[in-house]
Amino acid sequence: MTCRDLKSLNPTERKSFLDSFDEVLCDCDGVLWLMKEPILGSPKAVQKLRSLGKKIRFVSNNCIYTYDQFYMLLEKLGYGNEKDSLVIPTMAIINHLKNIKFDREIFLLGSAGLRTELENEGYKMAPKGPGLTEIKLPEIIETLKDNPNVGAVIVELDVNLNYINLMLASIYLKRKDVILLNGGSDKICPFSKDLNFIGPHYFQVLLEEFSGTKALHFAKPKELLAKYACDKYKIKDPKRVLFVGDTLEQDMKFASVNGFQKLLVFSGAVSKEELEKNKCVDLNPDYCLDTFGSIVDIVNSTQ
Ligand SMILES: [Mg+2]
Repeated sequence: MTCRDLKSLNPTERKSFLDSFDEVLCDCDGVLWLMKEPILGSPKAVQKLRSLGKKIRFVSNNCIYTYDQFYMLLEKLGYGNEKDSLVIPTMAIINHLKNIKFDREIFLLGSAGLRTELENEGYKMAPKGPGLTEIKLPEIIETLKDNPNVGAVIVELDVNLNYINLMLASIYLKRKDVILLNGGSDKICPFSKDLNFIGPHYFQVLLEEFSGTKALHFAKPKELLAKYACDKYKIKDPKRVLFVGDTLEQDMKFASVNGFQKLLVFSGAVSKEELEKNKCVDLNPDYCLDTFGSIVDIVNSTQ
């Protein structure tokens, strides 16, 4: 499927594109940085768009960092640390737990940043099962008991995930009073050019299918994260928002579902060749660029 490379627009079209949005919602991994290293040109792109008066917000599925760590990384890599400029599933999950006045224990299969923020809000984590172990089957079965204090299972990216804890989650989810919240949706988490992590998607599907419990989803492309972001930033006209991302299934779909304009950059998960194979309208960007940094040339050419 085709989308328009911003570089192919003539000067009038470039001007009209830049005038068509007031806000930029920007993914982070693969757009702003890879492995905590800034992607060449992206800091300048953010500064340039800010100089045009565009509001820049960061919408990531990454719950590895606490809010403070995220803002510190944004600042360190040259993206500023503008207050409240960040939206991640951690925030949408906590917002939901507050709305439903949740006051039980949480069984978390997720990362340290998510855990810290949940604990900062006063939520109690249910104990995990044993980690690496040589214990025998009868002893393992002894650990697989229900914990009636657990009222929620949250699944996100858990690098210490093991069979016993997946089993415990499935045991808790057998009870109808236990909710399942998903904090990630990615199938692939790019770590470097040569190494992709298995994304949380597969573990969520496993738990949903095995337990028969329908999850609430708080990561891109799902609407609960969008609702949180739109409420937070009081977005009234989604057509005046440009979403910049590097993935089709998370970023472009998220933008499509919410009616944002879509810009795909090829500095992360998806190559130009992979985009050309896409047949799904919802996943197709309106515009593309080799890197986010190239938008600086687009702006300069109109001034
Ligand atoms: Mg990304």
